[in-house]
Amino acid sequence: MIVILKQNPDKAQLDMLTKWLDDMGISVHTTVGHLQTILGLVGDTSKIDIDLIQALDIVEDVKRVQEPFKNANRKFHPDDTVVDVGGVKIGGGNFQVIAGPCSVESEEQICAVAKAVKASGATLLRGGAFKPRTSPYSFQGLREDGIRLLVEAKRETGLPIVTEIMDLSQLGLYDDVDMIQVGARNMQNFELLKELGHLRKPILLKRGLSSTLEELLMSAEYIMAGGNEQVVLCERGIRTFETYTRNTLDISAVPVLKDLSHLPVIVDPSHATGKHSLVPPTALAAVAAGADGLIIEVHNDPAHALCDGPQSLTPKNFERLMRSIDALRPYAYEREA
Ligand code: PEP
Ligand code: MN
Repeated sequence: MIVILKQNPDKAQLDMLTKWLDDMGISVHTTVGHLQTILGLVGDTSKIDIDLIQALDIVEDVKRVQEPFKNANRKFHPDDTVVDVGGVKIGGGNFQVIAGPCSVESEEQICAVAKAVKASGATLLRGGAFKPRTSPYSFQGLREDGIRLLVEAKRETGLPIVTEIMDLSQLGLYDDVDMIQVGARNMQNFELLKELGHLRKPILLKRGLSSTLEELLMSAEYIMAGGNEQVVLCERGIRTFETYTRNTLDISAVPVLKDLSHLPVIVDPSHATGKHSLVPPTALAAVAAGADGLIIEVHNDPAHALCDGPQSLTPKNFERLMRSIDALRPYAYEREA
């Protein structure tokens, strides 16, 4: 971090700042120029609140040269993290496909989809029980019953389950859930992230609708700062001026996140595009770009789905996509260590 001081800084304030930094284990290298004095701060600056320094009378400007996230940073943890979800490993060369309906609708539906996606090679089952819907009049999910039915589908197929949490008050229902999803709309629900940091359960953290990659990594940092290192990042498309697709898939997020962080990165082509016909090509692009996995919506009857039917693959189309993924995987981009 670099602190640029105003001309003729007050000595007492400068001494106070230097001592405060020193107490935090940060060493200060001072360069006195003709017009300006610059402080170079060396050490772990990730815990420094930049606004506190910026607010000082003697400070002209502050610039970070190091990322503000530490636990999620590859610089401090060069090896890929491998996240274990009920025995299924994601990251570090382990590629997994999470598949299932947007929402759990009935026992027949979730069990039929679970069996179909498993037969095609999916290793984890998704299904929403608590649904974040734009309209309060839309189907809100089966809630507790949805989780119960997911557990039933897991019992029948052996697939570990991934489902979204929307509020801390629901946490008691997630004991049998193998991976808790934090949806795009909750990416910056910091109280929720802090509480999930105290669990020892994998978290699937989706990128917010208008969030930068640094903001996504700072949200991962919230979870990891509590001691829970089992975080998987998910690029699911962001808001842009384009309206043809539901969101715009930021494919460069995959190599950028993998450069900046050791956490596994997966891609959700379903919410990124909103159209089932666009799911296979974007899924394959994600595989080629080096993603550690995919999360894909599959429904046995998309035309009658209670949520996100237009972007859901039929089991038959999912099977076809899985075979293309198998063929492409050997050619996927591998990041140089
Ligand atoms: C979902 O996965 O069902 C979902 C709601 O995704 P997102 O939070 O990315 O919109
Ligand atoms: Mn959905």
